[in-house]
Amino acid sequence: MNTMQFPASGPAPLSLADVTLEYPDGGGTTTALDRVSLTVQAGQLVSLVGPSGSGKSSLLATAATLVRPTRGQVTIDGTDTAGLRDRDLTALRRGKVGIIFQQPNLLPSLTAAEQLIISDHLRGKPAKAAGRKAAELLDVVGLSASAGKLPHQLSGGQRQRVNIARALMGNPKVLLVDEPTAALDHERSTSIIRLLREVTSEFNMATVMVTHDTEFVPLTDVVATMRDGVLTAPVLTGA
Ligand code: ADP
Repeated sequence: MNTMQFPASGPAPLSLADVTLEYPDGGGTTTALDRVSLTVQAGQLVSLVGPSGSGKSSLLATAATLVRPTRGQVTIDGTDTAGLRDRDLTALRRGKVGIIFQQPNLLPSLTAAEQLIISDHLRGKPAKAAGRKAAELLDVVGLSASAGKLPHQLSGGQRQRVNIARALMGNPKVLLVDEPTAALDHERSTSIIRLLREVTSEFNMATVMVTHDTEFVPLTDVVATMRDGVLTAPVLTGA
């Protein structure tokens, strides 16, 4: 793979080396990830495709450090997570990893700006700077005019934009995105992927996005394909 496009300064934000994940299954085990290796550089947007049940969610959950692999190494911003106690792993995740789920999961009684501010509060950050940062990020995602709106006053695409801005509040080095366009029409889906492309560059994150829609792959830098728990070598899309 040509990595010259993303000159690395320091360790890659996200690296999985020979990661195997087995789930207990009756008397035996299901191998959800089979010796998966993937390195994502800062500023790089990877799309992860593959059929249902191939291990995409398992890869995302393992990269998010929500699930510990059975074998292999997950390294976040130079820290090998295997040796960390749960408490330290949680702190690492809060500090370095942004997660965007399919459904925005916004709190119904909070405005767009408040969704962002409260996420900082939950991370234990001082409240003082949160308001300004929330306003800046809502501007980045094109929602300045909607800062005071409640979720039900926003479109599906706008809610997903709030979701993205909320993940950015934590200044993540690694951004993990699960099917961000599942509930959106084509036009809104395209603009969400373009936004992920922009913020990945602007905030210099390593971003992995699961998508079932191969149509959006050309908008990303690299495509990696899962099949039966095995990841094929990532390929540059030429984007
Ligand atoms: P995808 O996201 O590509 O649909 P998954 O990562 O959800 O694939 O699933 C990969 C494999 O792991 C499947 O065989 C699935 O049944 C199995 N699996 C996923 N989660 C669990 C779990 N919590 N317990 C047991 N098996 C699981």
